[in-house]
Amino acid sequence: MSGYDFDLLTIGAGSGGIRASRRAAAFGARVAVAEQRFLGGTCVNIGCIPKKLLSYAAHFRKELEESRSYGWSFDQPVFDWRTLLDAKNREIERLNGVYRNLLNQSGVELIWGTATITGPHTVEVDGRTFTSKYILVATGSHPTVPDIEGAQYCITSDDAFYLDTLPERVVVVGGGYIAVEFASIFNGLGIDTTLVYRGDRLLKSFDADLGNFLAEQMTTQGVRIRFNTEIRKIERDGATLSCVTGDGERLSCDTVLHATGRVPNTARLGLESIGVALAPNAAIVVDGAFQTSQPSIYAVGDVIHRMQLTPVALAEGMLVADRLFNGSTEHMDYSGVPTAIFSHPNVATVGLSEEQAIESGYKIDLYRSIFTPLKHTVSSSGDKVLLKLIVDRESDRVLGVHMVGDDAGEILQGFAVAIRCKATKAQLDATVGIHPTIAEEFVTMRAKVGV
Ligand code: NDP
Repeated sequence: MSGYDFDLLTIGAGSGGIRASRRAAAFGARVAVAEQRFLGGTCVNIGCIPKKLLSYAAHFRKELEESRSYGWSFDQPVFDWRTLLDAKNREIERLNGVYRNLLNQSGVELIWGTATITGPHTVEVDGRTFTSKYILVATGSHPTVPDIEGAQYCITSDDAFYLDTLPERVVVVGGGYIAVEFASIFNGLGIDTTLVYRGDRLLKSFDADLGNFLAEQMTTQGVRIRFNTEIRKIERDGATLSCVTGDGERLSCDTVLHATGRVPNTARLGLESIGVALAPNAAIVVDGAFQTSQPSIYAVGDVIHRMQLTPVALAEGMLVADRLFNGSTEHMDYSGVPTAIFSHPNVATVGLSEEQAIESGYKIDLYRSIFTPLKHTVSSSGDKVLLKLIVDRESDRVLGVHMVGDDAGEILQGFAVAIRCKATKAQLDATVGIHPTIAEEFVTMRAKVGV
């Protein structure tokens, strides 16, 4: 037993913070979590969960249309935003309750209020001072909007989850996760949607085929995409916004959503004053054990800005608890982390992209298949899927598995296990497919494409 109030005091009750706290408590540590806003963090409240609910809602419009080809008939479907928002808010409240119970059951004390670190072992929460052997910072991140004229008229993903009414025309800025997800949601809900991206390929950090194919498919579904241009200023005239692009074009709309990255929440935590080093992008600098430059202070999740993904924060949080309270010497393995983007169509990826494999010096074989899935042959929706495998020619190991299409995230989770187990192409080939599915193509692709 330490002479402190707690063995671990976590700041931030999001994915990483809660997981680390519960796990530490399970090892017998005395643990508290300080939180100022909501339980579950970005993912539960203004991220993954509500986003996926909106994405489901947006899929129905197209599915309803497609169902006519399958013999269904009905009058024009009507969508009510308020009903969706209420249902989404009820689910989030339920999840907030689940998190509260999880903390209670694991014996973690919840301290509501704004925390400031006042010493290597001291945290002040709204005027109350607590001491702890270790402090874990898991405060997450927030969306950022570039400093352009008229930026005050923009919204971010935080606001998009609470719009009073749906706009008729929307401009989405960015080419990353949030931009393609929200452009797909708005378009799916029937809103006139334009995506403006300064680069020439969506999802720049992924395999080039994915972003190119996604752009084609999103365009087929009705999203207008403007590449190689930026919004320079936004003017307001009554309820109408006018976005002036670098090309001098004016895009009129009711809402502009900026999805231009997320910044670590490190301001006003007192970090600099007690000697915790920050990177130029405001992220907390940590070593392989998630220890900061102040040895009693650790950090995980979006605030360290390594991979801003919920499952990564969970893994980092567990690792900290294991190291501090269970003698573990494990390090986090960031290779082979699978990820999915819930655009329409979905994108999912695990392992190396073609570009990364070549840069890493591998001699690779490529397998790529683009086809119309059975479901869409009848509906003539124009939806296609892309599947791609990157294989090391020398060892036959599968280095990367990539997909754009229905349920890509669901399909790739299993292939992430295969990649972790260092599966070879021969082992994929020896696996019997499940027919008729999209995923079976991953075990039946035989023809190499040129590199
Ligand atoms: P991303 O980093 O994915 O994308 C940011 C986009 O904004 C890029 O296309 C970038 O362009 C562009 N951009 C950045 N600055 C400017 C600027 N000044 N002017 C114009 N464009 C700009 O960030 P997101 O905000 O989409 O998401 C943040 C993170 O949250 C993601 O990286 C991801 O880790 C996580 N997330 C995960 C999800 C999931 O797992 N499904 C869903 C949503 C978010 P460029 O490429 O040229 O730099």
